[in-house]
Amino acid sequence: MSDSVTGTFNIALGLDADSLASCVSCGLCLPHCPTYRVSTEEMSSPRGRIALMNEVSRTGVGDQSFIDYMDECIQCMGCETACPAGVPYGSMMEATREALAEQTGYQPRWRRSGFWFLGHPRLLRGASSILAVLQRLHLVPSRLGLPKLPITRPRLRSTGEDVIVFTGCVMDAWMRDVHVATVEILEALGLKVHISGDEAPCCGALQSHAGLGGQARARAAEVVMGLKGTASIVVNSAGCGAQLKNFGAILGTAEAAALESRVFDVHEFLVTRLDDLEALAGERDAERQRVAVQDPCHLRHVQRNHLDVHAVLEPFVVPVSLDDEGLCCGAGGAYSVMHPDTASSVRDRKIDAIGRTGCSMVASANPGCMMHLAGGGLDVRHPVEIIAASIGR
Ligand code: SF4
Ligand code: SF4
Repeated sequence: MSDSVTGTFNIALGLDADSLASCVSCGLCLPHCPTYRVSTEEMSSPRGRIALMNEVSRTGVGDQSFIDYMDECIQCMGCETACPAGVPYGSMMEATREALAEQTGYQPRWRRSGFWFLGHPRLLRGASSILAVLQRLHLVPSRLGLPKLPITRPRLRSTGEDVIVFTGCVMDAWMRDVHVATVEILEALGLKVHISGDEAPCCGALQSHAGLGGQARARAAEVVMGLKGTASIVVNSAGCGAQLKNFGAILGTAEAAALESRVFDVHEFLVTRLDDLEALAGERDAERQRVAVQDPCHLRHVQRNHLDVHAVLEPFVVPVSLDDEGLCCGAGGAYSVMHPDTASSVRDRKIDAIGRTGCSMVASANPGCMMHLAGGGLDVRHPVEIIAASIGR
């Protein structure tokens, strides 16, 4: 939650009139909106939020309830996939939050400082290790919903330049095992791997979602500087991959657009080498484990390549789709920390959908979803961890 604003305030959202007018109020997006499913309140739906954006754009006046309805959106983009009119909801929401952050107290100093930290990997890793020790001493409240953090991390070493593995910020500090598994698979496929590491520390996705456009652009510019060359950039975080694939629009430079074209979600990359993966898998075991596959929103609704996860898992396990049409799990980057009650209610629906598969293990290709679902008591693995373990790495 943001610090409360008393009364009304003047604000210029700066939204494009055509985008605002593109919503025809059909309501087809409503069943796909996790916050509407929880509250059943019109203003917590995409249609309701767009109506509020229209109203505030017309009057130039907002209030705390406007901030709250905007802040409560998980930015899952389920509404964009469902919308027959092509409403660019995601860019409208990011612009609205940026206007709120610049012109109101929407993002207080303590939150801005937290996001600043993400762009400073040594500080982040050091603070994470201290937090991990405090966890072992039971000094970190469980209501924060943090996963068990590692005190130390396995070393990652560059072996060549065939392909770059983007390691990011929180993912590298908290879940480096997933990077290790990614590198192991790529090397098993005969590729030499360059680790992006601190040369390109943070893609700025969480900052973009929070409306901190200045911080997000600074992070994006660092990544573009740090990842020069022509090698493909492999990303194992759905949210980071979606952000890197939007750098051209974020920075508006030729270099950023060129980098975008080199970015692949790790499964999107591996699916182009499916024959080699099949060879690594060997003969299919009739008793292969059934694994429920949770499609992260940033793969299903933004990158739109979620089926690649199912395809690359198939030689190793039996991937089982959920029957909830890709409804969000409630993680939403930092959303589950800021809105624990709504995030938990949204997660309950996902846990029910996973339960209906009868699987005891879940595969999820996004760190935020992994941690949020694990916090709900599920056995969650990144797909690359399942593959790496299957090939004996
Ligand atoms: S982005 Fe997700 S949470 Fe936000 S309005 Fe759209 S469907 Fe609802
Ligand atoms: S956002 Fe799209 S689907 Fe939702 S009400 Fe507007 S036009 Fe209909």
